[in-house]
Amino acid sequence: MNDELRELYQQVILDHSRKPRNYGALDQPCCHAHGDNPSCGDEIDVYARLGGDGRVEAVGFTGQGCAISQASASMMTQKVRGQSPSTVRAMMEDFRRIVTGEGVAENGDALGELQLLEGVQHFPQRVKCAMLAWRALDAALEGK
Ligand code: ZN
Repeated sequence: MNDELRELYQQVILDHSRKPRNYGALDQPCCHAHGDNPSCGDEIDVYARLGGDGRVEAVGFTGQGCAISQASASMMTQKVRGQSPSTVRAMMEDFRRIVTGEGVAENGDALGELQLLEGVQHFPQRVKCAMLAWRALDAALEGK
């Protein structure tokens, strides 16, 4: 394993992929979307529920796939709770910028541990893995 790959699969990412947080379907989700990434075999279902204030009150996911796709989903569920759908979209765009290497996050603090996935930019075929949960959540929240 070279240094870049070792960095990509650092401990935090492996921990999230082995013990995903917020794993499971929600009771009475307001929104749900399925995403898959055939080139890697990743599949994910994301469930969300919005509170009366229109913000994400709960979010969960189920799925299977590579460590990057599962860790990204797990970390995402920890960061989007309490955020409005428009903030979630801004976070997704920030996250996309760092995993593609197109730029830096405008609000890195909001992404927290997700920034550890920036090593994905050295593996372009893995960008879809990292973005899968985000694209599913974005689809689930469409029109919200
Ligand atoms: Zn994958």
